[in-house]
Amino acid sequence: MTVKPPEDSLIGAVEAGGSKFQCALVRGDGQVLADRRIPTTDPGETLARVLGFFAEAQHRLGAARAFGIGTFGPVDLDPGSPTYGRLLTTPKPGWAGTDVRQALIERFERPVAIDTDVNAAALAEARCGAGRGLRSLVYVTVGTGIGGGVVQDGRTLHGSTHPEMGHILVRRDPRDAGFAGVCPFHGDCLEGLASGTAIEARWGARLDALATSTDALDLIGGYLAQLVVSIALLTACERIVIGGGVMTHGALLPRIRNAASRFINGYLPVARADPTLEAYLVPPALGERSGIIGAALLAQRML
Ligand code: ZN
Repeated sequence: MTVKPPEDSLIGAVEAGGSKFQCALVRGDGQVLADRRIPTTDPGETLARVLGFFAEAQHRLGAARAFGIGTFGPVDLDPGSPTYGRLLTTPKPGWAGTDVRQALIERFERPVAIDTDVNAAALAEARCGAGRGLRSLVYVTVGTGIGGGVVQDGRTLHGSTHPEMGHILVRRDPRDAGFAGVCPFHGDCLEGLASGTAIEARWGARLDALATSTDALDLIGGYLAQLVVSIALLTACERIVIGGGVMTHGALLPRIRNAASRFINGYLPVARADPTLEAYLVPPALGERSGIIGAALLAQRML
């Protein structure tokens, strides 16, 4: 009988975000043995602390067989590219060109898988969350920015780059004519109009603090509904999971479902089967853990 040494099944997982890096050493069965939340400051300091966490955790608990990273973007995901794994034109100061993957490879000499944070989260929700049993799922996050990841038959979608759903063009709400939008590249793309950053720029407060403002909820709900409709039309996915900081406002999801259902107007089979979209457009079943679980799954899938 062969018994695998327990450290053989360990995976290092990193969810690299614009405000924090979530790191975990995870067992093959998904149990988290050690984890740490590291604030995102400058790349040098942040990466040193990430490497320090994994060095200490592996010394104590055993070596990881591989690492998985779900990162904010944009990031080069073309394995044939000389800049594979590096952050690209991120507006986050100092981070363009940063290579989290290479830093882990050089320090620990293990294979490292990388994908976007939202593709990782989509993978986790598809495998063991809100999309269990389905073949296709899209995961959308609405926070400081807006992003989306796509899973089809267990694979995440990328081509020349990865999906950049936050920057789609949307039809302007006439009530919103005076607001220019905050996207540094496009002004009034979806992210420029409906992200947490846009909400604070427009009203000087988070959506939670505008709880009684029906107009604010309608406006943001309407813009996000346009994303939902576009996703449904473009990908024909079986379910959309929507999470992120802005979505913690409990009244927003019903508004988005309502507006999206009106836009679709019975055209798509998913909406005919589920006119209120309560089964089609859902919150993440894994809550805030979908990103880190997805990062671990990226590594496992590579092995
Ligand atoms: Zn944009």
